[in-house]
Amino acid sequence: MRGETRSFRQRLLTWFDRHRRSLPWRTEPGLYKTVLSEFMLQQTRVETVLPYFERWLERFPDFAALAAASEEAVLKEWEGLGYYSRARNLHRLARAIVREGVPEDIAGWRRLPGIGPYTAAAIGSIAQGLPEPVIDGNVVRVFARLENDATELASADAARRRFLPLARGLIDPDRPGAFNEALMELGATTCRKHRPDCLLCPVRDFCEGYAAGQAESLPRLQRKSTRRRTVARLFLVREETLLLEEYPADASRLAGLAELPELPERPVGKPVLTRTRGISSESIREEIHALPASHPMVREVLRRPGVRKVPLPGLASVSLSGPHRRWITALLAGR
Ligand code: SF4
Repeated sequence: MRGETRSFRQRLLTWFDRHRRSLPWRTEPGLYKTVLSEFMLQQTRVETVLPYFERWLERFPDFAALAAASEEAVLKEWEGLGYYSRARNLHRLARAIVREGVPEDIAGWRRLPGIGPYTAAAIGSIAQGLPEPVIDGNVVRVFARLENDATELASADAARRRFLPLARGLIDPDRPGAFNEALMELGATTCRKHRPDCLLCPVRDFCEGYAAGQAESLPRLQRKSTRRRTVARLFLVREETLLLEEYPADASRLAGLAELPELPERPVGKPVLTRTRGISSESIREEIHALPASHPMVREVLRRPGVRKVPLPGLASVSLSGPHRRWITALLAGR
């Protein structure tokens, strides 16, 4: 990076103070809002989070209200946001804070459920003024360009390790939270993946990547291979009930949520609905089949402990994963 650290901080923070997006967790900020926004924003876009954030605050306005809620109520409120382990971890975190108090350092935050290095640094710096750098995908992009660093980065962890020394040297000790937010905001709005807005960038004079005409080609991230698989599911409506499978409370994914039951194998015949979705590095083709109750695979499904008939009028109160709610609505409308 070119230039002086002090003037870099000053340029970045002046730009942030003038241009930062107005977001609900930035108005009347507080620890609870910061924690909630950091959990909701993991792997989820700001636009998706906004309506959930407002609704959540009305339902669970603070750690105490969240801690007192049942897991079922928490999962219901999270429905549609995906990655449900975040909701369960947030719930456990609220209970730990009510029981043991608020951590005072990064190590304390790291001991709480669902908190990795990124989230601990974001909460500690933004809500408590701890001088801990945040390195997310946006920040990696800004740093790789500022440094004109074409090292191939194998993972988010590798990227974090690579840029941690630079981040530690740059962070503003007087306003660490605003500095972290400013870097992330710069990556999200100006130093974008494609066609970065270098002419409007507040730190262009410091940027080696821009000077070398290399900005858009950076960072170099190793391509991840995508695994493909097909899942066959059952859609069975009988006597105004729908067959659903509820996952047990100790399931590694989707604990406490219900989905259309998975069939043991792909049946012969055309599915009534087909959708493809990506989860982590997997591309999953979901085939939904309407089979008669007498089909041998349906009898096998019915023997599983979590499978139950849910009356159609009661569907709204069941916690379904977001895609399943949409598919079921479409299939019921098309009956
Ligand atoms: Fe990113 Fe361009 Fe700014 Fe460099 S000058 S930090 S490449 S937006």
